Amino acid sequence: MPKINRIDDLPGVGPATAEKLIAAGYINVESVAVATPAELMEISEIGEATALKIIQAAREAFDMGFIRGDEFLEKRKAIGRLYTGSKALDELVGGGIETQAITEVYGEYGSGKTQIAHQLAVNVQLPKKEGGLEATAIYIDTEGTFRPERLAQMVTAIGLDPNTILKNIFVARAYSSDHQVLLTEKAEELIKSHNVKLLVIDSLTSKFRGEYTGRSMLAERQQRLGRHLATIHKLADIYDMAVFVTNQVLARPDIFFGDPTAPIGGHILAHQSTARLYLRKSKGGKRIARLVDHPALPEGEAIFKICEEGIRDF
Ligand code: ADP
Ligand code: MG
Repeated sequence: MPKINRIDDLPGVGPATAEKLIAAGYINVESVAVATPAELMEISEIGEATALKIIQAAREAFDMGFIRGDEFLEKRKAIGRLYTGSKALDELVGGGIETQAITEVYGEYGSGKTQIAHQLAVNVQLPKKEGGLEATAIYIDTEGTFRPERLAQMVTAIGLDPNTILKNIFVARAYSSDHQVLLTEKAEELIKSHNVKLLVIDSLTSKFRGEYTGRSMLAERQQRLGRHLATIHKLADIYDMAVFVTNQVLARPDIFFGDPTAPIGGHILAHQSTARLYLRKSKGGKRIARLVDHPALPEGEAIFKICEEGIRDF
């Protein structure tokens, strides 16, 4: 069998089918390998037998990625930690945000999501003994809130040269969810060649939310968001990179007790993010972060502040 690199190398996938699959977000053999026949049938108007054949071929071509437990342990030992600027916040997430993982922060407008993203883009460049990863950052901005001036302020506060730091942050503005997906896919080259150890997506969900309105489109949105996250997760894994994504909250009028807000994207994000932090503003400039979901850490809260220098302990 000839080597299968692209989806149009798969038996049963002609140019027209390939085009439809790619348009629906199935951009590589791997994404086809984890698809269901029903998904492919709906997108590309093929029969069930063909869909099964295509998926089977994709699975055979794609290394499903088993490794031994001891190898897995070795890989986990390599996990790096990136400091946030606040010790309390670092401790909450087990000693700084992890590489090989997605950290999601959600909260209302003005709760501090973008500020943390800016701080991380600075900190990732610091020496390891100062909580950095001695590396560069990619910053995907979907809301137009990236501010080099604010970064410069944070950098000046620690006595470094803003220009040097800004040179090591690759910024892109995403204009649509398609553009956002494409940017993350294109990011791989940059990650490989420029020692990128932090990928920021601020915000992960705003473009998806704006484009897919109404209940009928919800399933499709969730599917695309899920695939987008899977791509990101893989990059984090392969390149031992930290991923930091922000998310807004939806008002949930159906909840009467506790905090009536929920992150956009719901369970799709919950499954894909390793740590989820819920941010809120409190009295006297206090910010409260709650660790909502973590595979190995208890729920808990940390208090921090946002000041001219950046993110700091309260
Ligand atoms: P969001 O969660 O919507 O992304 P931001 O991260 O943009 O929220 O947070 C905005 C808040 O950060 C502002 O309301 C302000 O309190 C604080 N902030 C932003 N810049 C500064 C600064 N230079 N000095 C002190 N606080 C700041
Ligand atoms: Mg923001």
